Amino acid sequence: MFLGIDSGSTTTKVVLTRGDGEVVARRVAATGDDCAATAESLRVEMLGAGAAGATAIRTAATGYGRRRIRGADLAVTEITCHAAGVQRLMPGVRCILDVGGQDSKAIRLDAAGRVEDFTMNDKCAAGTGRFLEVIAARFGLDVSALGVTFDESVRPVEIAATCAIFAETEVISLLSEGHSRESVLAGVHLALARRVAALAEQLRFDGPVAFSGGVALNRAMAVMLERALSLPVRVCPDPQFTAALGAALLAAQIKTAEPA
Ligand code: ADP
Repeated sequence: MFLGIDSGSTTTKVVLTRGDGEVVARRVAATGDDCAATAESLRVEMLGAGAAGATAIRTAATGYGRRRIRGADLAVTEITCHAAGVQRLMPGVRCILDVGGQDSKAIRLDAAGRVEDFTMNDKCAAGTGRFLEVIAARFGLDVSALGVTFDESVRPVEIAATCAIFAETEVISLLSEGHSRESVLAGVHLALARRVAALAEQLRFDGPVAFSGGVALNRAMAVMLERALSLPVRVCPDPQFTAALGAALLAAQIKTAEPA
C-alpha cells in the first residue's frame, strides 16, 4: 500500500492507496504549528483505518512541510504531485489551477501529463484561499459556507484593492454604501478568480482547466474562474486531496521520483 502526505501551510492531507492507485482512506486536518506532528497523527490514524494487515507501506511526502515528515521514503514537489494526481483523475487535461491556503499555482502539462511549465503566487494573500478566510471571518461565516451565499445571477461588485488587508476594509465600505452582502461576496470571489486567472494566463495552454486545492471546494470559485478565463473549468474529484493522491501514486513508482 502507498501513503501520500501533503503537508500544506494551512491543511495536511493524507491519502492511502492500493497498488492499483485506488484510494482506500483519506484524512485532512489543520496543519497547525507543528506540521510533522500533525502528519504523524494523521498517518497513525490512517494506518489504523485503512491498512490493517498491510505488510509494506511506502510513503511520499509533498507540500510546504514535506522535508519535515518523519518516515517518508521520498519528498516530491506539489507541482509534480498535482500533475500525477490530475493525470490519474482527469487524463488529457493540459492545465491545472491549484489554489490553496497560502499559495496558488498554474501548471501546464504536456500530452502525457508531465509538467511543462508553471507559475506560482506565494507572496500575496489576495490571490490565495487566505483571502477568502479573511473575508469569511469578517462576515461571521465558515469558509465552507462562503461560496453558497449568492447565486450566479448576482452581479458582482468591483473590488478595487489589490491587497487582502485593504480589500477587507473596502468590503466594509461597500456594505456601508448599501451594496448587498451577496453582490459584495460575489465581487470577492471574482477578484480572487481574476488573480488566479492572471497567473494561468502567463502560461500558454489549451482548455479545459482542472481546478484543485482546498479553494476548489468552493463551487462559486469554479464559476468565477470560468468567467475570468473564458474557458471550461472542471473541479477535480476531492480537489483538496489531489497532491496527496499524486504523492501516493509517485510512492508506487519510487525510482522515478526525486529522492528525499
Ligand atoms: P494548503 O494545501 O495550502 O494548506 P488547501 O489546499 O487545503 O491549503 O486549501 C486551504 C483553503 O481552502 C482555505 O484557505 C480555504 O479558503 C479553502 N477551503 C478549505 N475548506 C473549504 C471548504 N470546505 N469549502 C470551501 N473552501 C474551503
